[in-house]
Amino acid sequence: MSFASLGLSDDIVRAVTELGYTEPTPIQTQAIPVVLSGRDLMGGAQTGTGKTAGFTLPILQRLSDRSVKGPSTGRPPVRALVLTPTRELAAQVEESVRNYGKYLKLTSMTMFGGVSINPQIKQLRSRVDILVATPGRLLDHIQQGTLDLSQVEILVLDEADRMLDMGFIRDIKKILALLPKDRQNLLFSATFSDEIKLLADSLLKSPELIEVARRNAAAETISQKIHPVDRDQKRQLLAHLIKQNNWFQVLVFTRTKHGANRLAEQLDKDGISALAIHGNKSQGARTRALAEFKEGTLQVLVATDIAARGIDIDQLPHVVNYELPNVPEDYVHRIGRTGRAGAVGEAVSLVCVDEKKLLADIERVMKRQIPSEVVPGFEPDPNAKPEPIQQRSGGGGGRQGQGRGAPRSGSSGAGAGQGGRTQSRQPAAQAGNHNSRSPAGGRRPTGRHH
Ligand code: AMP
Repeated sequence: MSFASLGLSDDIVRAVTELGYTEPTPIQTQAIPVVLSGRDLMGGAQTGTGKTAGFTLPILQRLSDRSVKGPSTGRPPVRALVLTPTRELAAQVEESVRNYGKYLKLTSMTMFGGVSINPQIKQLRSRVDILVATPGRLLDHIQQGTLDLSQVEILVLDEADRMLDMGFIRDIKKILALLPKDRQNLLFSATFSDEIKLLADSLLKSPELIEVARRNAAAETISQKIHPVDRDQKRQLLAHLIKQNNWFQVLVFTRTKHGANRLAEQLDKDGISALAIHGNKSQGARTRALAEFKEGTLQVLVATDIAARGIDIDQLPHVVNYELPNVPEDYVHRIGRTGRAGAVGEAVSLVCVDEKKLLADIERVMKRQIPSEVVPGFEPDPNAKPEPIQQRSGGGGGRQGQGRGAPRSGSSGAGAGQGGRTQSRQPAAQAGNHNSRSPAGGRRPTGRHH
């Protein structure tokens, strides 16, 4: 199967060939003909499957095939709208649009909060064929009268489950009401909760359903391990593991933004270069941290689940669950970041007495027991009493990228087909999810200080 045989034009095939794509991934093989045919689509696919190209390539083709309808206002119309839960995902999708469309005459733009609105307003005055936006900032533009969605031909909801988890449903509904009724709708989601199905029912017209296998769900290439440890020994244990094993490029997950900050500061004091990324950090700070981490000059990146969704990295050598996630599905996402091509990735969880129930939930979803190993010198106190888990970060957080609605209980079905989630998900920090090839290993940590 080749991209050309899927019906894509030479200009598009040339762009993807230059990017080194030799053949379409399964989601692309299935989705591209459907999108080209103009039908609605419900795609079950997560990051790493090639879903972005799966919808972007045929959208580019459709838009370049057809002439622009006459604008209803003085402004040129937006023809395709892609909604994403986070700034990072928006940025990555738009970058893909630019890369794949480099030989076409179509224009694109990102729109998200956390940055000044004025350059966006300016950019909207010129032609924007494809707009990739997070819901909050998009509605700000609508309110200011700087954006017209009345000519949108194609709508994409990317990572729809995450958007619902983040409380964006009301914003999405407001946006849907601004779109022309006659349009093509594409919805992508890694999970299919009742809520996603409801949204799909209200949005999609006789959609084609496409589902591809979850990537890395407990893949054999990921070695998983639990280190039981006392709550107040976690930081020392983490520093010990990193130093002892000479780990570099370690992605560490915490449950809260505050916890991420504190841990990064403490590691830095221990001589391990670390930065936290989460929704309260400025876009610039997040971009810098990520760039340093990818280059290998930053040894440890501490992230919340939602922030990590926006990170364009996977295939890391080490992922550490400093705290277990409230939602088992997030565990699957987290460990999916490890496991380089042809090499074994390592996912280590530091588990204290408070987290026994979370661990049991995860093992149920994974349908396996995760091997447990006490690290000498860090034996947990067998008489320790569990304490309630702190669910919420201190600060209020940046508005953009946050769900605007009230916190709601998590209800998307867990990855491995597990229902009955009991923990509630906080509409925590930032999100957006992506991945890319991580550079080949072998670098040494530089022990950078801040
Ligand atoms: P996505 O699931 O859209 O986030 O894509 C995951 C990664 O796979 C991105 O880094 C893409 O550049 C890459 N990719 C997408 N399609 C292909 C393909 N057909 N061949 C090789 N790499 C691809």
